[in-house]
Amino acid sequence: MNILVSGGGIAGLATALELGTRGHQVTLVERAAHLRVNGAPIDVRGDAIAFADRMGVLPRIREQRIRMSEHGVFVRADGSVAARLPVAEMSDSGDDIEIAREDLTHILAAALPTSTDMVFGDSVDALADDGKGVDVHFVSGRAERFDLVVGADGLHSVTRRLAFGPERDYLRHLGLYVALTDLPGEARADRTNPLYNYPGHLASIARYKDKAFGVFLFRSGLLDYDYRDLDAQKQILVDAFAGHTEWKIPQLLDAVRADPEFYFDSVSQIHLPTWHRGRIALVGDAGYCAALLSGRGTSLALSGAHILAAELDNAGGDHTVAFERYEQRQRPYVEFAQHTVTDGGELIVPSTQEAIDARNARLQTIVT
Ligand SMILES: Cc1cc2nc3c(=O)[nH]c(=O)nc-3n(C[C@H](O)[C@H](O)[C@H](O)COP(=O)(O)OP(=O)(O)OC[C@H]3O[C@@H](n4cnc5c(N)ncnc54)[C@H](O)[C@@H]3O)c2cc1C
Repeated sequence: MNILVSGGGIAGLATALELGTRGHQVTLVERAAHLRVNGAPIDVRGDAIAFADRMGVLPRIREQRIRMSEHGVFVRADGSVAARLPVAEMSDSGDDIEIAREDLTHILAAALPTSTDMVFGDSVDALADDGKGVDVHFVSGRAERFDLVVGADGLHSVTRRLAFGPERDYLRHLGLYVALTDLPGEARADRTNPLYNYPGHLASIARYKDKAFGVFLFRSGLLDYDYRDLDAQKQILVDAFAGHTEWKIPQLLDAVRADPEFYFDSVSQIHLPTWHRGRIALVGDAGYCAALLSGRGTSLALSGAHILAAELDNAGGDHTVAFERYEQRQRPYVEFAQHTVTDGGELIVPSTQEAIDARNARLQTIVT
C-alpha cells in the first residue's frame, strides 16, 4: 500500500519503519526542516521493549542506554541537597530503558528502509477520504493520493484536527507547562542532576553523556499562544519565573533566550473515543498523549506503531479490520499510561512550600 505518515517523531519514525519493512511504500512528512532531536531522555518500558526488539532496534537501544534519572537530587536555593529523586518509585521495573530522545530518533531513522520517502519542511493541510483512498494536499502546494494516512504529528496534530475536529474537544490540560533548553556550558563528567523547586515551579539541570540541558515546569491553567511562535513561548516562560533570582534561575533563563531549538508545551493528555476514521488513523501523542508525567509516551508510540502495522498484515491489508484490532490491542496500554498520572505532578512540582518540605522529609526516610 502507498501510505503517508505525518510527523517524524518517535511515533512517525517507528510507524514508517514497521510499515516499510512489511513492504508498504511509505512517505514520511515532517514539518520541521530536519528531525527534531532535542528533548529530555525518555523511557522505553514494559511491552514496548519487546516491540522494539521485533523492530530490530533493541540491541542499539540497549547500547545507548543512559542512567540520568538516578543522579537526580532535589536542592535548596543555596544548592545543598535536600533529598534524592525516588527513581524506584517512578519506574515500572528494573527493566525500564532510559535513552536520549535524540539517540532513539537516530536509531529509528537509521533503520528505515531505503524506499522510505522522507519529506521535510512540509505539512498536510487538507485530507479528502473518498472511501477508496485519501487525497492529500500539502502546505507546499503538492498534492498526492494515498491508500492510508497515519497521523503521528504529536500533541497538536494537524491530521487529528482535519479528520476528527478541533484540539479543544480532545485535550485535557493537566495544569502544568514544560520547557527544555540546551545548556552546553553545564556539561560535566560528574553528572549530578539538581532539581530546584519553589511553590508551583521547578527549574533543573539534567546531564547525560556530554550534554546538559535545563528543564522547567510550572503550574498554570491553559494558556492561549501560538505553539509555533518560539519567541512568544520563551516570553511565557521568562514571565512565569520572573522575580526569582535564587539558585541558577537567571542563568537558565539566559540560556532559554539564546536557544534556537527551545521546546515548550503544555502537559496535557489527548482522549479520543476512537483513533481511526475511514482510511486515516492516529498513532502516538496525536491519538493518545499520556503527558510527560506518565513517562510512557515513547512506549505508547512504539507499541502503537508495531500493533498498527502488524494488524494491517494480519488483516491482509483490510484497514477497517486492522484499525479496529489496533484499537483493541493498544487501548489497554493507553488507559494504563493515562491513569498513572494521578497526582498531577505533586512529586516533581509541589504547589506549596509545605508540600515541598513534606516531600523532602518523606524522601529522606527512603533507604536506597
Ligand atoms: C522536540 C521535542 C522534544 C520533546 N521532549 C520531550 C521530553 O523532554 N520529555 C518527554 O517526556 N517528552 C518529550 N517530547 C514528547 C515525546 O517525544 C513524545 O511524547 C513521545 O515520544 C511520543 O512521540 P510522538 O512521535 O507521538 O510525538 P512527538 O515527539 O511530539 O513528535 C511529533 C512530530 O511531528 C512533527 N509535526 C508536528 N506537526 C506536524 C505537521 N503538521 N506535519 C508534519 N509533522 C508535524 C513534530 O515536529 C514532531 O517531529 C518531545 C517532543 C518533541 C517534538
